[in-house]
Amino acid sequence: MKERIEIISGDITQSDADAIVNAANCSLLGGGGVDGAIHMAAGPELLAECRTLDGCRTGEAKITGGYRLKAKHVIHTPGPRWRDGTHGEPELLASCYRSCLRLAAENGCATVDFPSISTGVYHFPLDRAAEIAVRTIAETLEQYPSITRVRMVCFDSRTQRAYADALAAL
Ligand code: ADP
Repeated sequence: MKERIEIISGDITQSDADAIVNAANCSLLGGGGVDGAIHMAAGPELLAECRTLDGCRTGEAKITGGYRLKAKHVIHTPGPRWRDGTHGEPELLASCYRSCLRLAAENGCATVDFPSISTGVYHFPLDRAAEIAVRTIAETLEQYPSITRVRMVCFDSRTQRAYADALAAL
């Protein structure tokens, strides 16, 4: 299902996909990086809805409205914080991508944009994260024919290169 995956560079807060994914933390109450940028762009109504959700476990996901974003929905998923790779980090990262795509399909989203989950302040090694992301997305899309396009929205050129290489190697 590699044909439905695209790697682009850009700012995910500007996305017009049906759903964007937020690399959140377990509180779902906002943070730095892409999380802070999404809350800034969506407005305070997003935080108000997040407060009702009672947090989220690492590797799972919860969906909200998009408020002032062009995207109709935000799917919040706390990625794993990298420790040494022996604490389930790869499995948890794959679980983030699966959980988000399941919620997208259940909520009628045909297009979904992801940031590079866990490779910012959570320090997951970029090449491994990229390989896990594109493989998991490709496998999971087999189950969800209603999702027609998934993009990885990369904020810098190093990230874009890593995801493009991982997709080419699939
Ligand atoms: P994590 O805590 O999961 O590591 P971060 O937000 O620190 O999350 O970083 C995840 C990725 O999101 C990094 O590659 C970072 O450069 C990127 N990022 C930050 N802001 C944006 C944005 N507006 N759009 C897309 N990606 C972004």
